[in-house]
Formats: sequence, structure tokens, C-alpha cells
Amino acid sequence: MKPIIYWDCESYWGMYPLIKDPDHFKDINFIYNKLFEIHKNNTEIDLYIAVVGILLCKNEIEQSKFLYEILSLNEEYRDKKYNNRIKSLINVIPKLQKIHIKEEIELLSKLENVKVGNHTSTHPYIKMDSKNFNKIMLNEIKLTENKIKQNLGINPEFLILPQNKLNDTLALDLINKGYKFRPSNIIWEYDENLESNGSFFKSLQRLKRLVNMFIPKLMRVEPRKYDGTISNLCECGIFLKLPSNKLEFLIFLNFYKYILGNSKNRILWLHPHNFISKTELKIKFYLKIIEIITE
Ligand SMILES: [Zn+2]
Repeated sequence: MKPIIYWDCESYWGMYPLIKDPDHFKDINFIYNKLFEIHKNNTEIDLYIAVVGILLCKNEIEQSKFLYEILSLNEEYRDKKYNNRIKSLINVIPKLQKIHIKEEIELLSKLENVKVGNHTSTHPYIKMDSKNFNKIMLNEIKLTENKIKQNLGINPEFLILPQNKLNDTLALDLINKGYKFRPSNIIWEYDENLESNGSFFKSLQRLKRLVNMFIPKLMRVEPRKYDGTISNLCECGIFLKLPSNKLEFLIFLNFYKYILGNSKNRILWLHPHNFISKTELKIKFYLKIIEIITE
């Protein structure tokens, strides 16, 4: 099986708590162009790009309109907290720097080895057992599907729920509607949920990662299987944590070499917006990882 790399494209919209600095993602287009250059002639890897709908809007006006659409569709199902958050996003949009990646995704989507997928409209952070979870997700998925069709002229080929939160009822419903999605087992090395819950959990995450580094076998879990997905073929996937200094570069590289060397299938998952800081070092690291998985 060909190695697969998943990108979850979300930048501002997937962030919780909200990033206040409007300049934080000002280089996001540069990052995508850089990644495009890396992948443009590489047919040895299948690249799956899941995009949050709001980022595919052409400009601020379209973004505001899209947010109102989401708000009105889900207002009665959402917590007040989330409704207020979307309302506050509508207010800050005119003050934000450019955070549209429509043109970059369009370029990528034309590559032979690239598939574009749906990563919901606003990337809502909702507990999986929330009352209206499935309803909210289905609405978000539908809106983004339309946005991908309208703005890229293609049909999304797969789906990724925020933080891989997929329950059995929703999975079956989506399968019946013809959707394919990423296996939800790709969390064993890194737990996004943990890290977004404050400094204590961040330390816990760090500890977990250390254990992973030295005793990788300990943290491995069996993949969960949903019919009709690639999880049937997948031994495991790996969240690719990018290094922020030279020491981490070496440690992470050794770790991934070990893990990838011991996996039948090579499935990686990462967030392009994480290339924003220490870009040069992280790109260098990404190139090394690509070398390893295509060996
Ligand atoms: Zn995400």
C-alpha cells in the first residue's frame, strides 16, 4: 500500500481557545505554497487534504455569509456558548488578516495524487455525547460539501470529523449516504483533546509522548473498524508532531523511524498550520519523514 499523508486544514477556525493575535496566521499561504512545492511531483504518496469549509471562502464577505448560514442552521441545536463564539467570529472577521486558502487548495486538488475532503464548516469542539452532536455535525458536513462543490468544482472524496470524533450511529448514517472517512484510531501517539484542555493536560500529554518515545509498544491500540473505510486495511496511523528545536528534531526523527519501520502501512496525520513557527526546521523534518515513508 502507498503511504498516505493526511492534512487537517483548519488554521484559525479549528483553534480553541481562540487565537487572539490576528497576525498569527499571516504566513499561512506561504506555508501552503511551500508544501505544494514538496508534493507537486511526488506521486509516491497519496495526500488526503481535509478542509474546514470557512477557509474556502473567497473573501471576508463570503466568510461572514457562510458563518451566518451555519449559525442559523444549528442555532437551536448548539450550546449558547458555541453560538456566542460564532457570533464573535463574525464580528472579528473584518479585523483579521488573510486566512483564505482557496487558491492553494485548488492548486493542490489538481494534482494526481491528492484527494480533497470535508473537515466540517467551523470545526466545532463538541463532546461526542452532547445531545445534538450528530445533527450539528451533519449540518456542518452538508454545508461544507456544498462549499467544496461551489468553490473548487469537485466533490469531496472523504470526511474527517473534528478531533476524529466519530460515533457508531453517525458513522453508519454517513456510510449509508456514501461517505468515506479516516479511521478514528489515529490518536494513539498524540491526543489533541488532551493538549487543548489547559496546562495540566499539556504536561500530561508531554509525559505520554515521552513514554511513547521510549516504549512505543505500550501506547498502541487496536484500530477501530467501521465498514467501508480504509481502517480495514490500516494497522495504525501516526500523528506527526513537528519539532520546535534541534534536539526535538533528533528525538522525534528517531521515534518516527522506529514506528514507521515497524508498521505495515504508513499513514501520517498532521496540521499544516503547525508549520507557522520554526518553518525552516519543520519543513526539513517533513522532508526527512517523506524520505522515510517512501523508502
Ligand atoms: Zn481538525
